[in-house]
Parts: sequence; structure tokens; C-alpha cells
Amino acid sequence: MRLSQLLIATLREDPADAEIPSHKLLARGGYIVKTASGLYTYGPLMWRTLKKIIEIVREELDREGAQELMMPMMHPKELWVRSGRYDRYKADGILFTLQDQKGSEYCLGPTHEEVITDFADTLINSYKQLPVNLYQIQDKFRDEIRPRYGLMRGREFIMMDAYSFDVDQAGLDEAYAKMDRAYRRIFERCGLEFRSVQADAGAIGGSGSEEFMVIADSGEDSILYCEESGYAANVEKATSIAPEAPDGGPVKDLEKHETPDIRTVEQLVGFFSMSAGAMAKTVLYKATWKDEDAVVAVMMRGDLDINEVKLVNALDCLAVELCDEETVKKVTGAEVGFAGPVGLPEEVRVLADLTLKGRTNLLTGCNETGYHCLNVNPGRDCKEPEFHDLRTAKAGETSPDGKGPLKQARGIEVGHIFKLGTKYSSAMQATFMAENGKPTPFVMGCYGIGVSRTAQSAVEQNNDAAGIQWPAPIAPFEAAVVCVDVKKEDQVALAEQVYAELKAAGIDACLDDRPLRAGPKFKDMELLGFPYCIYVGRGAADGQVEFVVRKGQQKEDLPVADAVAKLKAALGR
Ligand code: ATP
Ligand code: MG
Repeated sequence: MRLSQLLIATLREDPADAEIPSHKLLARGGYIVKTASGLYTYGPLMWRTLKKIIEIVREELDREGAQELMMPMMHPKELWVRSGRYDRYKADGILFTLQDQKGSEYCLGPTHEEVITDFADTLINSYKQLPVNLYQIQDKFRDEIRPRYGLMRGREFIMMDAYSFDVDQAGLDEAYAKMDRAYRRIFERCGLEFRSVQADAGAIGGSGSEEFMVIADSGEDSILYCEESGYAANVEKATSIAPEAPDGGPVKDLEKHETPDIRTVEQLVGFFSMSAGAMAKTVLYKATWKDEDAVVAVMMRGDLDINEVKLVNALDCLAVELCDEETVKKVTGAEVGFAGPVGLPEEVRVLADLTLKGRTNLLTGCNETGYHCLNVNPGRDCKEPEFHDLRTAKAGETSPDGKGPLKQARGIEVGHIFKLGTKYSSAMQATFMAENGKPTPFVMGCYGIGVSRTAQSAVEQNNDAAGIQWPAPIAPFEAAVVCVDVKKEDQVALAEQVYAELKAAGIDACLDDRPLRAGPKFKDMELLGFPYCIYVGRGAADGQVEFVVRKGQQKEDLPVADAVAKLKAALGR
């Protein structure tokens, strides 16, 4: 491709809403242009990169036996009602909905479990047709509350979504393992530094849910990992061995103490000269289910924090939020800062973290403004709470396998694999005839890769102040031959020759034959970030060129044949 024939338009300024390097660079390089909030047009260079990622994804999924198909992006509301997800997605605000001229209701697909389950139900009748794994690569629509960071969180974005159908759990385990393998190869081939981590599987639980995280400071996810054992998990899901707390000793009599204006754990530590680990803070949440909501009380050791994702799972509810002051007052009869398990209204469910199980003589609030209780013993002084793991694990704590400390990193979720089981097939009554002659719901898995997010993640991991440094396998061009001065015949002739040679070697090269001054050409090449450049300039008369590796901007003057050989070797051709 000759760059004189390609729309290359670089901008001098970062867009006002670009906060992270990858967003700034892609916008400045003319790779992406914002059409509206969360909606982007991919320019010709960006589309080349996206097609390369798509091809890698396709090759690796096909290698594992998955089959490509294409589903409609517009879904009838009725399918989503059948799966039971319509109300929740609508309430979350994530679903784009629309009506046709007859008034029938539709949504734009944020994900395709409903459509594929219905498809499988229609076409797959017998266990003999299983297993199958079906995927598509297509735009998804999500009305994200906060679209930002360019392609990282769009409202329309490209996703590969795959769905496996098996006769039983063992089949699902195998399908899942295949996808796990394929994902590793995909992200390796894309040149990304990534980590797979255990992910929250939501209220359906189950063992299998892993996210693939690209490690980057701008990542919206927080992950905890242990170098010694390889344990790694999203903080939403991570566990650890809790730090020690002082033993409460033999059960003592309940005492009520006046604690004027003492509300926080830190203040209590000072007031009672007790460690935070000997206290139980009680936090009130409003939990929401499909048809109801309720106030619940959560007890957590004073030195530890509540993990709201774990709380949602323990309650099997849709969402939780902290109660406002007014609700706290109404339920406990006291101001915020004095809630406790003793004397709470009977109908309030009390949950407690596992670290509180069996502990004696706790310091808690009294549900009376200005008072705390010493020596609270659940079971004696109040009802026995429901115990769950509700704690947020933290860096520095010991990995749950006991092998070493947890470290923290930020990550961008580029992929997700998930064992669904029969959640959708049961809800939608999608069955096949099993070997025993009985209609049986499909055992399903679902798998997603954010293709457009992956592309930008590669830039987030590979850039410097001057521009992008694409990993070669997904770069719009693997190499550029830059004719520094197109008015000089010897330069033109040599550049054309090198370009032809690279093309002949199967290298995806471009020729910068634009009639521009040298300065802007160099700047463009740095910004656009093709991995290798051969500059044909003044040395052309003597057969000398400059070979530049974009990563690190290493420059070398070489005889043209050596430069070509070096480039071929670098790309393995
Ligand atoms: P997130 O937690 O980042 O909102 P998610 O868990 O809702 O993502 P999934 O439903 O697992 O996303 O979708 C599969 C993949 O699609 C994700 O791993 C991610 O790479 C990509 N993805 C999800 N939402 C977006 C978005 N708004 N813009 C770009 N890519 C996205
Ligand atoms: Mg996900």
C-alpha cells in the first residue's frame, strides 16, 4: 500500500476527553474518530489492525473446533423475557431498546445467550449432534453509564462471543479448557502482556469463570496475585488468609458504654484501647431482588472491609447499596455510627463475615446514639448471623493457598470465559434428547473477547511520548519504507526496490511516497507506530539506508541488503 493513496491524517492536539495514552494516540493518529459518546468510526489504519486481531481470533477458535456463524444484532424483546433477563437489563439501563412501525419491541444485543439458545433449541435435537461451540464476531450495544477511554468502554463495540453446548458437565469442562487454551494463544499472538484471573461468577456460582486481563495502570479492574503459587483473582472474587486478630477469650457479661461522638473504628480503637480486630462493625444495606427490596445488616471485623460483589452473591440479589442516614435511623433507632446486632428489628437479616465465626466478646454498636456494647456474643445477645465470605482481600495478605503474599495490579478485561451450566437452557426450555431418551437441557458455556478493547489495550501497553509501538502481528503495517524526498530519483528508485522486495517476502509493508518534508514524515511514522521502518534518504546514492525499530527507537545505518535481511529476520520471514 502506498501511503499517498491512503487517508492518513494526524492531529496535533489530543481530544479534550482523552485521559489515557492509548486514547490520545489513537485519536491523534487518525485511527479513531468519535462519532458520538461511546461510538467510534475506525479509520482505514485501525480497521487493518482490527481485521488482523479478528483473523487471529478466528484461527485460534477454528483450531479448537469452534464454528463461526452470525446472529442478528436486533433481538425481539420476547426472547429476553423468556430468559428472565429483560427486566434486570432494562433496570440496569444497559439495554438499548426500540420499536418497529407496528409497535413490536426489540433490543440491540448486548450479548447473545438468548438468541443462540433459541437457535440451538431449533436445530439440535439429539445428543448425537453434540458437542458444538458456536461463535460470531460482531458489534455489541451497551448503554454504559460512563463510556470512556475511547474503545475501552464503548456503547457499540466489537466482540467475539462464543457459546458451547454439551450433554453434561464433563463436556462443558472440556469445552471450557479448549477456550482457555485458545484465549492464551490469541492474546500471546497479539503481543500482549496478560494474566488470567479467577473471576466472580455471579449468583449462579459454579467453579468456572476466568477473566483475561491486560496488565496496565489505567485498567478499571483490580487484581490480586501471588507470585509464589500463581494464584490470581479479580478483587471482586479474591480470597486470602485473613490477618490474625486477638482472641476474645471466655464469654463475659454484656456491657453498655457511653461513647459520645465516637462512631468510627479508628475512634473506637482510641477510646477503648482495643485493636480493630476485636470489633465488629455493622453496616446496613438496601438489597434489591426482582420483586422486592429489604434492609440487611452486615457484620464485618473492624479491621476488614466488606466486598459488595460477595454480598450480592450471598444474598442472591440483584444489587446492594448503603442505606442512607434516614433509613439507618429508622431501622436502628440511632444515628449512623452506632448500629449493632443487639436489638435490631427481628425482620432484619443479619449476615456476618466468616472471620467473625466463633469469636467472643465483640465490641459493637448498641443501636442507641452515643453508646457501644462490649462483650457481644452472637447467639446469646442477638440472633446467630448467617456466615459468608464477605471480605475484600487485600495486597499484603497471604494467598489462600498459604504460599506467599498477595500483590496487586490493575488490569483491563479483554476476555472472559464462563461456565453457564443450564441457566439459560432451563429458563428457555431448550433441550435435546439425551442417550437415555429424555429431554435434557443443554449444558452451556459462554466466552467473550472484546476485540476493539484488545486493540486499544495493545496501544496502552506499547507506546512512548512520540507515539504508538504496535506489536507486529496486529500492526496496520508490519513495516514502512519511507522515501524521504520523493523529488530525488535515486531515493524513489531504491525505496521502490526495497518495497517490492519486502512485498515479495510476504511482509505487509507500506511505502511512504507522500510528497512531504522529512520532518513531518518522521513524526507521522513515530506516531502511527509501525514496528519497523526503512528510511531511504541521502545515503541512497551509496546504497545506504536507515533501519529503525519503533520499540525503543533504535536506529542503525546499514547497506540496503543488510537492512532488508534484518527486517526479514525480525519478522521471521
Ligand atoms: P466490563 O466489566 O468491563 O464492563 P463485562 O464483564 O460486562 O465487561 P462481558 O460481558 O464479559 O463484559 O463481555 C465480554 C468482553 O467484551 C469483555 O471481556 C470486554 O473485553 C468486552 N467489553 C465489554 N464491555 C465493553 C465495552 N463497553 N466496550 C468495549 N469492550 C467491552
Ligand atoms: Mg466480563
